[in-house]
Formats: sequence, C-alpha cells, structure tokens
Amino acid sequence: MTIRIGIMGYGNLGRGIENAIHDNPDMQLQAVFTRRNPDNVKIRTAGVPVVEAKDIEKWTDKIDVLVLAGGSATDLPKQTPRYAEMFNVIDTFDTHANIPQHFAEVDEAARANGKAAMISVGWDPGLFSLARLFGNCILPNGSDYTFWGKGVSQGHSDAIRRINGVKNAKQYTCPVESAITAVRNGENPVLTTRQKHTRECYVVLEEGADAAYVENQIKTMPNYFDEYDTTVHFISEEEFNRNHQGLAHGGFVFRSGTTGVNGEHNHVMEFNLKLDSNPEFTAHVVLAYARAVARLAAEKSFGCKTVFDIAPAYLSPLSGEELRKKML
Ligand code: NAP
Repeated sequence: MTIRIGIMGYGNLGRGIENAIHDNPDMQLQAVFTRRNPDNVKIRTAGVPVVEAKDIEKWTDKIDVLVLAGGSATDLPKQTPRYAEMFNVIDTFDTHANIPQHFAEVDEAARANGKAAMISVGWDPGLFSLARLFGNCILPNGSDYTFWGKGVSQGHSDAIRRINGVKNAKQYTCPVESAITAVRNGENPVLTTRQKHTRECYVVLEEGADAAYVENQIKTMPNYFDEYDTTVHFISEEEFNRNHQGLAHGGFVFRSGTTGVNGEHNHVMEFNLKLDSNPEFTAHVVLAYARAVARLAAEKSFGCKTVFDIAPAYLSPLSGEELRKKML
C-alpha cells in the first residue's frame, strides 16, 4: 500500500518531510499546503502542487496522512485540532508543558470525526521520551538525566534578537562534558541547572549599539539565561552568515539505577543522538510514525496517540514475520 502524504507548512521541517518521502518508497507526496501565496513557495518534487491552505478541504479523499509542519508556538495549537476534523494527522508539538492540553483538543477532534492522530513526534518529545519511559520502567530505583546539544535553541535565539541593538543572533545550548562523564560513570550526581548546560551566544550588533548593555541584557535575562553560565561572542554579519547557518542538534538521555538485594549493582542506560540536521532527522522520525498513523486509521483506531502508544512494529514497512527474522 502506498501512503499518500500531505504537508501543511513549508519551513525547515516541511522541506525535511518532502526530502524524507524520497527515502521511503511506500510513501508518496500528494501536495504541499501553505498559508503564503503558493506562487512564492518553490518545492523540490516535480509534478506535486503547492496549494493555498484555505483550499485544503478539496483534498480530504486524496491524502492518507497530513503532516502538520508548522511551529509549536502558535501554529500547531490551532492547526492540529482543526485539521484532525478532516484528515489523519501527525505533528511535532514540542512545548512540553502544554502537551496534555494539546492532546485533549486533538483527541476530541479526531474521535468526533473518525480520524487517527499523533502529536509530539520527533526526538524530544519523541525518541527521548521513549528512552525516558524505558529507563524508568526497567530501573525503578534510579535517576534520570537529559542533556541537550550542542545545538541551536530557536527560542533563546529569538529572545536575544528582541534586545535593543541586536541585528542577528544564534544561541547554542551545550552540555557540560564533566557532568555527562560523571553520569556515564554511574556516579549518580545531583546536578543543578548550571552544572548541566552552558549557553553560547553569537551576536551581530546594529551599528552604534552598546555591546556591554547587550551582553548584560542577555546574561541577566530571567528564565532564559540567568541560571546558566553564558558566553557572548560579538561577531560580524559576514562571520554570522558564514559559520552560523547550520541546524545541527542532539543530546543524551540517561537512566542510572541500581539492582540487587542492597542495590549493590549499578546500571547505566544511555540513548544518544548527534544530528547534522535537526529538521531532517525529525522529519524521518515523523514519517516512520506516519506509517503507524495510516495503520491505525485502517484499523479504525481513532483519536489521538503519542509515541508511548505505538507498538514499534507499526513503524516498519516490513511484516511481523520479516521483522522477527531480521531484527529480533
Ligand atoms: P519554521 O522553519 O519556522 O517553519 C514554521 C512555519 O513557518 C512553516 O510551516 C511555514 O508555514 C511558515 N513560514 C512563514 N514564512 C516562511 C518562510 N519565509 N520560510 C519558511 N517558512 C515560513 O519552523 P521549523 O524549523 O520547520 O520547525 C517547526 C516546528 O517543529 C518547531 O516549532 C518545533 O516545535 C518543531 N520541532 C519538533 C521537534 C521534536 O523533536 N519534537 C524537533 C524539531 C522541531 P506556511 O508555509 O504555512 O507559511
């Protein structure tokens, strides 16, 4: 069976989904939907239309799974429940604190309209969430550690760009190596926020801007930077454009725990990702789970799910028999 995919929103993730479809022979791109003028949105795949989002209702019988590739801050809270009324949907919603509410809204829309839906698919939330769940179930006596980076935090970069005098900025979240080593060695350290991550900022100033003022505004910014050791580098626009366009990311999830009568044996579970391109990797995770969404819809298993609810075999194009033979 070929799974017919639609993409709503054509930013980094939307482009990543389009490219990832080329790597999945059981999938086919049907259309890209955008809120912008479709004439201004050029896609890679020949023969596939770019359609204005308001015309999406005409596509309900031509798409098996609609991938919502908009932003988590303002797009997905509206788009995913809305389109779950018309399509089987999947999104990457990553505002962790709001996942329960988002889930409830998507679940209600999908159930009421006989659609299958998944939210918060990707690597965090997503694969990291699974690593945390496995760790907690397998080692009930233990501690969790998640480290992110080195990678760009879009939210922190945006916060710097809003400071007066800043022309452009990128913020990298970096894990503290000594903390990772201590966790990996099974030392079960108790780590403060400051001991787990540092923040590195690359800033291009507007002409005549006060560097000392900008640096102080960054380092003392509540919630974003004040609890971290932050380094600020002022660089030229040219250097910014040359060295800071990448979308690399990654991180580590650890569960460190003990077993035995007196807890005498230590175990460390580690899941580690090193990604050259955050959106491209996320897109590949999304498509594996889009396969599961298509299967859930075929089974009439409607409503919203997360990665916790999906049996791993649903991600694979291989049959159960082939999987048992090749991978078990
Ligand atoms: P993005 O590039 O900013 O794109 C978001 C939306 O902006 C697009 O869908 C697009 O919608 C719109 N847009 C408006 N003007 C644009 C322009 N000139 N160029 C490109 N897009 C434009 O965001 P993204 O990097 O794709 O990330 C999307 C979301 O993925 C993030 O908010 C994040 O929450 C999530 N994410 C999750 C994970 C995870 O592990 N769960 C990992 C990575 C990312 P229109 O086409 O409709 O205008």
